[in-house]
Amino acid sequence: GGFQTFGLRQELLRAILHKGYKVPTPIQRKAIPLALQGMDVVAMARTGSGKTAAFLVPMIHRLQRHSLKIGARALLLSPTRELAVQTLKFTKELAKYTDLRASLLVGGESIDSQFTQLATNPDIIISTPGRLMHIIIEAKLSLAAVEFLVFDEADRLFEMGFEVQINEILFKVSNKRQTLLFSATMPESLVAFARAGLRDPALVRL
Ligand code: AMP
Repeated sequence: GGFQTFGLRQELLRAILHKGYKVPTPIQRKAIPLALQGMDVVAMARTGSGKTAAFLVPMIHRLQRHSLKIGARALLLSPTRELAVQTLKFTKELAKYTDLRASLLVGGESIDSQFTQLATNPDIIISTPGRLMHIIIEAKLSLAAVEFLVFDEADRLFEMGFEVQINEILFKVSNKRQTLLFSATMPESLVAFARAGLRDPALVRL
């Protein structure tokens, strides 16, 4: 079965085929249908497994199109600026036939330019936890509209000491959100976090 079997929106399927993907990777084959059903998912997957598309595909399918309502509906948290930059590029490629807007909020960029980005009312925010908390405080950024939350490379997020910021961010997004957590490893602390922060998650592993 190819990507056609997921029942994805035409604009998204076109972008996937345009990237040259013929068949889903094993992690995509398992995680995408669960996420499309609205389930929370914990996926053990490393870089190279196709993990990024495994969360971007259901996210773009569910967001569908730009919303005029104020507030981002999807939030992706990355451990590093470099990973966030790559994820933004990939998001734009997969969303290019839609009018969805994505913004990058990471350290090393001027706060002013990030305020300008937020003024475009992005549907998707891709961020590192430290910078996001800073902007929440400085710009009174609300995350109340977030309905799709992704922790990418969650083990690294925790290793880098972002636990405090992550818990503050969780407190600011709706309880009705869908949450996906991707991680190469699953230490005990992350299992406990997933139990507390996710809703009866499906576990996906290779
Ligand atoms: P990731 O694990 O997300 O870092 O992806 C690793 C590489 O695999 C990236 O270059 C992706 O563009 C590529 N990739 C992801 N999904 C597929 C697929 N279904 N078919 C071929 N390449 C893919």
